[in-house]
Amino acid sequence: MSQQHIEKFTCSKCNATMEFTVWDSINTELNPELKDKVMDESLFLSSCPKCGHTAYITFGTLYHDPENQFMIFFDHAVQNDDISEDRFPDNDLFSQFNRNYKLRYVHGIRNLKEKIFLFEEGISDVAVELIKYFLRNGIIALKDVPANWFIGKDVYFTHLSEDGETLVFTVIDENGKVGSQFGVNMDIYEQCLQKLVLDKRFAEEGNTVKNVCYAWVDAKLKTPLENEKSDLS
Ligand SMILES: [Zn+2]
Repeated sequence: MSQQHIEKFTCSKCNATMEFTVWDSINTELNPELKDKVMDESLFLSSCPKCGHTAYITFGTLYHDPENQFMIFFDHAVQNDDISEDRFPDNDLFSQFNRNYKLRYVHGIRNLKEKIFLFEEGISDVAVELIKYFLRNGIIALKDVPANWFIGKDVYFTHLSEDGETLVFTVIDENGKVGSQFGVNMDIYEQCLQKLVLDKRFAEEGNTVKNVCYAWVDAKLKTPLENEKSDLS
């Protein structure tokens, strides 16, 4: 179920006290309307009943989509590269879900929306994070795009092209401004999926809550590969 509570805020403009509904958890099956409010961010907007001043309330929430089998712990703070996987103990909350359930924690509203877009399309966020990592480090290059173009820019998946052949990303520049879009061919995505299968560093031992972000991919790729010789002894 979805859970909520009321909090009181003081209007920064007229000092009036206002009540605001904070959603501690959201279940998109039971409350599909809340999903729309997350996507257009109106869930986080409070309007002062006295002067009409609008404020952005940055509360964290648990976003659960049972139909598409994913659960996201969301925190508004953008800069957090904490990638430890023991933040959430493997308790009863998770044991009821099967191994296919995707458990994540994300920081920043753009990352939350990206995960929702990806999981609703059935796309691997790990493969997409790998694509983004390779782009930013010039390991893969796109046609007509200079290799160093992605340095200092954040990119977010937004949708699949109508023919299903292209992953479409939006670029956020150094000043946080939303810029142009670009496409990545599904072939590159398939190659990244393949790498995830073959590269033991990405093998999953259990279904833990992960912060699948740039820092997470970076840590995986910087882990030395196990010495293959030990398998022969
Ligand atoms: Zn006010």
